[in-house]
This record gives sequence, structure tokens and C-alpha cells, in this order.
Amino acid sequence: MSKKILVVVEHEEGKIRRGSLEALAAARQLAEAWGGQVIGAVAADQATSLAEEFARRGADQVVALEHPALARYTPDGYRQAIAGLIEEIAPEWVLMAHTYLAQDMLPLVSAASGAPVLSDCVGVEIDGERAVFLRQPYDAKFVARTVDNGPAPHFATLQSGAFPADDLPENHGGTVSTHAVEIDAAALRREVLEVREVGDRTVDLSASEVVVAGGRGLGSKEKFDELVGSLAQALGAAIGASRPVVDSEWLPHAHQIGSSGQAITPKLYVALGISGAIQHVVGIRGAQCIVAINRDKEAPIFNEATYGIVGDVAEVVPALVAAIEEARAQ
Ligand SMILES: Cc1cc2nc3c(=O)[nH]c(=O)nc-3n(C[C@H](O)[C@H](O)[C@H](O)COP(=O)(O)OP(=O)(O)OC[C@H]3O[C@@H](n4cnc5c(N)ncnc54)[C@H](O)[C@@H]3O)c2cc1C
Repeated sequence: MSKKILVVVEHEEGKIRRGSLEALAAARQLAEAWGGQVIGAVAADQATSLAEEFARRGADQVVALEHPALARYTPDGYRQAIAGLIEEIAPEWVLMAHTYLAQDMLPLVSAASGAPVLSDCVGVEIDGERAVFLRQPYDAKFVARTVDNGPAPHFATLQSGAFPADDLPENHGGTVSTHAVEIDAAALRREVLEVREVGDRTVDLSASEVVVAGGRGLGSKEKFDELVGSLAQALGAAIGASRPVVDSEWLPHAHQIGSSGQAITPKLYVALGISGAIQHVVGIRGAQCIVAINRDKEAPIFNEATYGIVGDVAEVVPALVAAIEEARAQ
């Protein structure tokens, strides 16, 4: 029997979250190695159009799990919907992006069979019939190759940017079926009373294709604004920062990149005056191209960089901006 890989889809304001497309990319990797099938699950009050989109992007089959109680996420509502589907289709693996929702809900589902969740995985290797997931313990200083030797279903969550979704098809042609699920409303223990917007929603570095970030090496808020701001403007980029920049209150925390900030997956990331401490680097490993400018040629950021420029930001950045503007003018 061909192995089934189930991806639980997260969505927000009618859109599939990018992490779920990355989980789909990982699922395709497994399905192609095993000649298996990728199945998506979308839970919502009205899930069909999202399910159709997921089927276009590479799922072979998508189940729209619909019930009025699924209009908003609750762990018990999702647990009931997803656990029912798992029982019905018996997948080999259940994959999700490593998000707060997945950390909240997936252990509730996996606990039904006593299975562990392999969390925050950054890669996968196929070993015959087994999937060996790679994880990075101790702030990514090690790589742990991990298998789940228990019976299926197995569960894993995937780190943002670890499985790029860029190569997913636009017109895969998977099928969609809509299931009206049974939800026991009395079993929904958690209720969200109100959602208030508090953070700066304009700063979503995780969705930016180009990010220019500055570090302590910029020296002052004025220099940060001048140099990072001018390069970001020239490249049409979002602005990020290392932690000392945020600690010095040059920028709000919403701009911080790293283990206690955002993990980003842009096509281009430019680091100005950032040393490349591990706590920063774990937030940029999903970037496709990293350009680092640092006056210290031994700075660890150069170990991560695709292109490195050894030099003073005060000299290199204005020259870069001028070159970009000149190229644009031609
Ligand atoms: C629990 C914990 C969580 C953390 N979380 C995060 C996090 O989420 N994000 C994060 O970024 N950090 C985090 N940190 C802090 C992290 O360890 C580093 O201290 C921090 O990333 C260093 O920031 P930086 O590179 O801007 O500064 P520095 O390490 O001081 O580096 C400055 C760099 O600028 C270069 N430089 C100086 N002047 C110039 C110049 N004129 N031109 C060019 N280059 C120049 C220097 O050579 C140096 O490499 C965390 C730490 C801990 C303990």
C-alpha cells in the first residue's frame, strides 16, 4: 500500500500560510521517494477554496474539514477534526510547519496514539522505508539525525525556511473532497474572548523577499537609519536588526532577527555590521542568498555568507547604493 503523508494546513485571513506550503514541499519529498501520496487537511467553517489552492500547489488529495465551530482555531476543535481524518486515512507521517498552532495542537493529536512529535526539523533523509529527520539542538550547534521507531502515524513539525516552497507547482491538479465533520461543541474547552492587535503588524519580515539588517557595528541610531535605511530603500527591502540594536532602542523588537526574534526566509539577506553570533544566524538560515559586510575578515557571519565584503559599512554602503542607483538609471 502506498504511504500517505498528511499535511495539516494553517491559514490566516483566507490565505494559506507559507509554512504550510513548506510542509507541502517536505511531504512531496517523502511521497516522491516512496511512490506515496500527499494529502492535505484544511479545517475551517468554509474550507473548500483553500483546499483547492492546496491541491493546485502540489497535494494529490485535499480534504476540506468543515464545521461552524472551526471558523476560529481552537485546539479541541482542530484535534477532533484532524484525529478523525487520521483514523480514516491512516497516514505514515503527519507534517506541519513549526508554529505556535502546531505546538499547541499536534501533541494533543499525537498523544492519542502515544506518539512523540519530532519538532522543529530542518531537513529529512530517506533511509529505505524510514524518514530520518534532522534537528538542531543547542542553538543549532549540532545536527541530530532522528527517527521515530514507533508505529505510524509519525508526527513532525518543520522549521521555517527549511523546505523552500519556491519549486512547488502552480497547477498540480490534486482532488478535493469536502467533509462535514462532527464536532462535539461541549468538548471545546478553550474560548478566545477577544483578539487585540498590539504588535506592529506592518513589520512582517517573514514575508519579505529582501531584508537588509544592521547590527551593533553601525555604531549609532543615526548611522543605522542612514546606512541601513538607504540600502533598504535602494533594494526595496524590509529592515531587520540584531538584538543589540533592539536592546539599544534603535528599533522596536518587531525588527529583531534570531532565536529570540523572527526567523526569516528571504531571497536576499544583507547583514551590515553584524558579527554572526549563533543566536542571530539561526534566524537567517532559510535565506537563499546572504551578503555580509563587516570590517573584520574573521567575523563568523562570513561562514554563512554567499558573498562577503570585508570593509567599513560607512564606505561600502554608500558605494553600493550609488552602484544600484546607477544600474537602475541605465
Ligand atoms: C538567550 C539569547 C538570545 C539571543 N537572541 C538573539 C537574537 O534573537 N538575535 C540576535 O541578533 N542576537 C541575539 N542574541 C545576542 C547574540 O548572542 C549576539 O550578542 C548578537 O547577535 C550580536 O549582535 P551584533 O552582531 O549586532 O553585534 P556584535 O557582536 O557586537 O558585532 C558587531 C559586528 O560589527 C562589525 N563592525 C564594527 N564596526 C564596523 C564597521 N564600521 N563596518 C563594518 N563592520 C563593523 C564588527 O566587526 C562585529 O563583527 C541572543 C543572546 C542570548 C544569550
